[in-house]
Amino acid sequence: MSEKKKERKVHTYYKINGEKLVRNLRKCPRCGVFMAHHKKPVPRWACGGCSYTEYITNEQ
Ligand SMILES: [Zn+2]
Repeated sequence: MSEKKKERKVHTYYKINGEKLVRNLRKCPRCGVFMAHHKKPVPRWACGGCSYTEYITNEQ
């Protein structure tokens, strides 16, 4: 039972973190288009125009 509770807590935290990042949209430093946020396989911002990728490392 305790294992299930722990898993749920982590999931909730991750979701909040993701929404916060999505709301704060980034623009590509190379071509200026809005970048797409991806959570998998690793959290990152990706540009659809020039394939620029910025990895998110601020989650703990
Ligand atoms: Zn770009």
